[in-house]
Amino acid sequence: RGSCASDSSDSVISTSSETESQVYKVVLLGSTGVGKSSLARVFGGVEDAGHDCDEAGNTYDRSIVVDEEDSSILLYDIWEQDNSQWLKEQCMKMGDAYIIVYSVTDKSSFEKASELRIQLRRARQSENIPIILVGNKSDLVRSREVSVDEGSACAVVFDCKFIETSASLHHNVQDLFEGIVRQIRLRKDSKEE
Ligand code: GDP
Ligand code: MG
Repeated sequence: RGSCASDSSDSVISTSSETESQVYKVVLLGSTGVGKSSLARVFGGVEDAGHDCDEAGNTYDRSIVVDEEDSSILLYDIWEQDNSQWLKEQCMKMGDAYIIVYSVTDKSSFEKASELRIQLRRARQSENIPIILVGNKSDLVRSREVSVDEGSACAVVFDCKFIETSASLHHNVQDLFEGIVRQIRLRKDSKEE
């Protein structure tokens, strides 16, 4: 499990710019098996499709250039690291932004996503935190249980962004993380005005 080290430092693209780029903490939420760790590994650039290395939580650190501006993302895949309520509460508190993942092949994970959205709203009441609802496993066409329309309608109700991804095909994963960075920047800019 060499490539599964909790610090995927191989994939860190270090920047030598004088201006220290902003580090954004992004937390993955969602039911078991929806593809959180797979998305995190694609993001982190860990090529180990065959290995199951997510029995422990992982954090990925990567810089990303969006709209010609550099940012660093610390991606936390720790939601299921243990079953303690304490950790879940920490997760709800620590993020600058959240990725709520469900699987388009699993209706119950879609329902769980709604619950998580409500929990998050409760935990961070007065804050306007960027959230992206992600329907993963879009490649599994024949076992789809949640339509694109259902997903995007849900995002409208929840007042968050929406994207469908396939971690397996690496489809839309880059767009997902660029979207997160743009959302965080937008909120920050409107706060500073
Ligand atoms: P987690 O429990 O949310 O961290 O989910 P995992 O990342 O461990 O993924 C659970 C299972 O779904 C694994 O067998 C993955 O290979 C598979 N999986 C994850 N993302 C996709 C995807 O986009 N498409 C398909 N077909 N399978 C996926
Ligand atoms: Mg996992």
